[in-house]
Amino acid sequence: MIRFQQVDKHYGHFQVLKGIDLEVQEGEVVVVVGPSGSGKSTMLRCINRLETITSGELTVEGIPVNDRKTDINKLRRDIGMVFQHFNLYPHKKVIDNITLAPVKVLGVSKAEAEQTAMFYLEKVGIADKAHAYPSQLSGGQQQRVAIARGLAMRPKIMLFDEPTSALDPEMVGEVLDVMRTLAKEGMTMVVVTHEMGFAREVADRVIFMDQGQILEEAAPEVFFGNPREERTRTFLSRLL
Ligand code: ADP
Ligand code: MG
Repeated sequence: MIRFQQVDKHYGHFQVLKGIDLEVQEGEVVVVVGPSGSGKSTMLRCINRLETITSGELTVEGIPVNDRKTDINKLRRDIGMVFQHFNLYPHKKVIDNITLAPVKVLGVSKAEAEQTAMFYLEKVGIADKAHAYPSQLSGGQQQRVAIARGLAMRPKIMLFDEPTSALDPEMVGEVLDVMRTLAKEGMTMVVVTHEMGFAREVADRVIFMDQGQILEEAAPEVFFGNPREERTRTFLSRLL
């Protein structure tokens, strides 16, 4: 579904990604961890071309993301993204936040979009909030709306960039539960998170990034049980 081959990215003279090689298969859940500033968000944002790569090759479903001939809007429709800050429209009701893109971008009828929205709101456990405004919801509920909004576009891939980092601790679990369900249903997911319990339980593979490089990549049992790299051990020991 996603393939990075020797991908570099520079911001001016600063090299933020260094020779990234990564493949994500259909249905796989890849969790990306690493210190702040190591390039995790940048790597994620390259996948839907919110950032452009400097060199190397990056394909999604075999389509070169940075090729001039690639219809980037079409590609982006297949990729849902959930951010740390939920970015809901504050002046729109929950349901209208969710129906907006399907109606505008996919050309779905309003009635059908609302039906789909309700389906996903039930899935994330907040159907009763459909007619509330985002400000009337807790952070955890808002993030679940953001996930429902992503799912309503029926993407093939979901990218999560620290989806629980802005939440009060008691709300982290409800968002991770939704993500766990998605993973079980076979969604292809790349998740940047500091939630090591989630990584251990849900990830098929854990990627450790440091200073723009993928330093280590392993199944969670190996990654947490017996990391190969000293820097991975140091990183993990600091979290405890
Ligand atoms: P992470 O998500 O792992 O914390 P980021 O991908 O956000 O890391 O950032 C990696 C590095 O790139 C950081 O040093 C950051 O300061 C730098 N960076 C991020 N965005 C920009 C930008 N638009 N211009 C210049 N430097 C940037
Ligand atoms: Mg980040």
